[in-house]
Amino acid sequence: MNEFEAGRPVVLRGGTVLPMSPRGSRRVLPRTDVLVTGDRIAAVGPELEAPEDAVVIDASGGLVMPGMIDTHRHMWQTALRGYGADWTLTQYFVWFYLEHGKLFRPEDIHAGNTLAAIEALDAGVTTVVDWSHGLRTVDHADAAADALESVPGRYVLAYGNIQQPPAAWTAAPEFRDFVRRRVTGGDMLGFQIAFDVLGDPSFPERPAFEVARELGAAVTTHAGVWGATSDDGIRLMHEHGFMTPETIYVHAASLSADSYHRIAATGGSISVSTESEQSAGQGYPPTWAVRAHGIPVSLSMDTSVWWSGDLFSAMRATLGADRSREHLEAHAKGETVTHAGLRADQVVEWATRGGARALGRDDLGVIEPGKKADLVLVKNEHSPVSFPILNPFGHVAFQAQRGDVHTVIVNGRVVKHEHRLLGVDLAGARAGVERTVEHLRSTMGDEAWEKGMNPDIPSAKVLDNPYTYTDYRSDATHRL
Ligand SMILES: [Zn+2]
Repeated sequence: MNEFEAGRPVVLRGGTVLPMSPRGSRRVLPRTDVLVTGDRIAAVGPELEAPEDAVVIDASGGLVMPGMIDTHRHMWQTALRGYGADWTLTQYFVWFYLEHGKLFRPEDIHAGNTLAAIEALDAGVTTVVDWSHGLRTVDHADAAADALESVPGRYVLAYGNIQQPPAAWTAAPEFRDFVRRRVTGGDMLGFQIAFDVLGDPSFPERPAFEVARELGAAVTTHAGVWGATSDDGIRLMHEHGFMTPETIYVHAASLSADSYHRIAATGGSISVSTESEQSAGQGYPPTWAVRAHGIPVSLSMDTSVWWSGDLFSAMRATLGADRSREHLEAHAKGETVTHAGLRADQVVEWATRGGARALGRDDLGVIEPGKKADLVLVKNEHSPVSFPILNPFGHVAFQAQRGDVHTVIVNGRVVKHEHRLLGVDLAGARAGVERTVEHLRSTMGDEAWEKGMNPDIPSAKVLDNPYTYTDYRSDATHRL
């Protein structure tokens, strides 16, 4: 039990508010209060009058921003946090798709999802699309949904199954039954269908798209992944009329301008996972190209089997990758970038309102009266990085980190306060993940387990250097 349990109104006093309003995303409101009643933001302004029973949270010296939204995270894989730190995409595919993904039992999906959900909340990520492609039976799907419903965040279960073609599992009666039982149109657990389009000219994914259309579910798809999905998949989707405004294209990294034109023309959005694209090999993080097409962008972390599950890292990596490419392209032409094209406020917008837009939720990702109360207070009085805050967007993108998340509110409920999660069973989550790790390790055997984590390093030759100490080592030098 805590002071926030009773659904009391909450007022965040005197913070610097980043409203992320469509009317001007660079707008900052200094010394501003945010009043939350029920599940909504009731008022935003200086020195607000609050109901007598309101809980007051001192936000002075801190930044109040909308809860962040991750549009692509394979939450089940969080049970193997960090295991694949040195993988390439090929090694990931071999490990999960071909060899060991099928070892995951329903309780393992539950364990990964639970930990991922808690981790997201702790880091101020209040909405996550669970790109859940380990659902090889409906029992696995029930476990995934149970886990998401056990943690007080907002989630979208993007149902997927890498062990079968999408036309097969979406046609199964038990899948229909799952949708009937579990997809209730509730506000806290949404539903999408997740599968990839591999470019076979016969378009075998067509029946899965038809099921999604019939169910009124958005499709999310890994697009433009080097060596896996290409322009062919986009063209097939487009020619068959399955590119829609609610479609989320994940990565979209190795695509031609023609594919970007098709995405832009049909109103879909791109979920960029910069940390992932930078080290796994899907293609260069595409914001630098996507921006030129005016395609809406959201951010995502992909999987904690490699990367961090917080969107501060995503914002930082995305801003860096975009600018890096802009400089590189200019230098290749002998030119100099004197003014950066991508600004910090833009990546903060992608991490908040960009995700809301991708999900068709104009009630999220913005701090305005009437919107859902999903809020994050970034404030850390014990950190030397907490001041001065001169440029609030720059602070969020380049200075802040998840340890600075002081308070998190989801749907009007305070779920983290003074850096402590409330009403979350971290010990239970730990025990679940330990059982999963033990199950995988013992089933695979120690040797396969270790080998999986430590891929071979390719042989590399150090290049000859014309400026080495050749002359000193020569006979002539020795004779001196
Ligand atoms: Zn992915």
